[in-house]
Amino acid sequence: MKTDTRIVHSGRDPEAQFGAVNPPVYHASTILFPSIAAYNDSRKDRFKRGRSYGRHGTPTHFALEDALAAVEGGTRCLLVGSGLMAVTTALLAYLKAGDHLLMVDTVYGPARRFCDTMLAGFGVETTYYDPLIGDNIAGLMRPNTKAVYVESPGSNTFEVQDVPAIAAAAHARGAKVLMDNTWGVLNFQPFAHGVDVSIQAATKYVVGHSDAMLGAITVNADADWVAVKTAGTNLGTNAAPDDVYLGLRGLRTLSVRLRRHMRTGLRLAEWLKGRPEVLKVMHPALPGDPGHALWRRDFAGACGLFGLMLKPCPEEAVTAFIDGLELYGLGASWGGFESLLIPMKSDIKRTATRLDARGPGLRIHAGLEDPDDLIADLEAGFRRLDARR
Ligand SMILES: *Cc1c(COP(=O)(O)O)cnc(C)c1O
Repeated sequence: MKTDTRIVHSGRDPEAQFGAVNPPVYHASTILFPSIAAYNDSRKDRFKRGRSYGRHGTPTHFALEDALAAVEGGTRCLLVGSGLMAVTTALLAYLKAGDHLLMVDTVYGPARRFCDTMLAGFGVETTYYDPLIGDNIAGLMRPNTKAVYVESPGSNTFEVQDVPAIAAAAHARGAKVLMDNTWGVLNFQPFAHGVDVSIQAATKYVVGHSDAMLGAITVNADADWVAVKTAGTNLGTNAAPDDVYLGLRGLRTLSVRLRRHMRTGLRLAEWLKGRPEVLKVMHPALPGDPGHALWRRDFAGACGLFGLMLKPCPEEAVTAFIDGLELYGLGASWGGFESLLIPMKSDIKRTATRLDARGPGLRIHAGLEDPDDLIADLEAGFRRLDARR
């Protein structure tokens, strides 16, 4: 089955739920058993799915976990309370005191903070590497390197990584490959490219409506399921059932939404590239982008999130540009139906590479509005900006 079909048909069992197309939302902490035999049986194998306790999931969770695992081409998925929790749980599943982690320099900021504070405190050493390192990552591997973490394209600056080359080098030295696949969503098949553990902030496109928060960790091998499930069980990472239901509802329409986000994002990116106020646009699906060839090779499409850098101009000009926008929201997160535009902080931490900070950076999420209206709003913004340069 192709991805679009799997999105619609995976994780469904109407016969088990009164014939209803969608599963009910199970609110449960206590789960009752009819006999001591059934109770004891439920405690035997925590890696096997079954009734046990609300924290270990309900049929609502299992439906979305099965669907996401199928869509990513994996075997099992664990839902957790947020995308960041998916990142931290996956890292804790593989790392212990004395271990070494290779982390991409362009990783999502809060994940970096986790490595520099809690992981460091637990005695795990992190080395940041250039996202464009490719198979030269072999030179950074140490005997105690247990995990290599990729995020492609990178947060804020959208560098595309050569994931298969990095994975081959990591596996040759016995390390696991963890990937933040939030941008790729349906368009990057992690396990076909050598990834062992795929992490998604389902908060973004899977939920898709800027309301619920959810994380997903998907694996493709029994040993990785044991590692991830053990970490989730120890940490108590369960996701709230109403939010899981919203994720399930979002997933069913994701492929049509995503295509529209991609088309509008590309239209905005192309238009912005032609503006005299713009220094560069960072969007791997744009021909001429440094990551374009790798994106074409490995991705089936793009989403609506990209970055741009303005030519140097006074801060008050950027403020006037952003404050007067009528259609773009000013706020964190992305993947919802609405467009967003936020300034990129010029103090983003980079240690293995240098952040190009020649001009003010912006990050745009192209929503589902009419692209003509979105362009007109930006055009009016540039008039405000130009009046203050
Ligand atoms: C938002 C985001 C996360 C974290 O997801 P939350 O659900 O907000 O915790 C992780 N990775 C990336 C790339 C993100 O954009």
